[in-house]
Amino acid sequence: MARYTRILLAVDLSEECPQLSDRAVELARQNQAQLSLIHVVEPLSFAYGGDVPMDLSTIQEQLDEHARSKLNAYAEQLSYPVDKKFVVTGNTETEIHQVASNEETDLIIVGSHGRHGLALLLGSTANGVLHGAPCDVLAVRVHQEKNKS
Ligand code: AMP
Repeated sequence: MARYTRILLAVDLSEECPQLSDRAVELARQNQAQLSLIHVVEPLSFAYGGDVPMDLSTIQEQLDEHARSKLNAYAEQLSYPVDKKFVVTGNTETEIHQVASNEETDLIIVGSHGRHGLALLLGSTANGVLHGAPCDVLAVRVHQEKNKS
């Protein structure tokens, strides 16, 4: 079986990420693949559109900068070298597909919460990434951490 050479791990920088990264690192190691990370920042204009009569670009830049430093910290604690880190602004699924195409990624890894009910009907990011993906997609089932105060 052909091995994966370029893996793109999509992270929302939330607390479940260690579960995802363990799996991604394991696969990268097994395949001796290059491992890259992507985090997508949703544009403030998506949420507020023209409703806010002010220039949101400075706040957007601060959000992007904050995401960049969080992604750097995340990359540093991985037990595998990270090839590239992408912080991009836009629609999460579209941007992940775009970077995966540009980088000739052969495997995208995302987390899956296995939601039910309305959330399932509306679709999760994992679902969105799967549809129209330019390569294989692995959805890693992530579980809520228990015993949290
Ligand atoms: P969700 O369905 O939004 O809870 O997210 C499921 C998975 O999609 C996460 O575990 C990540 O792998 C990926 N994901 C969600 N949001 C983002 C984001 N903003 N940037 C990159 N990946 C994301």
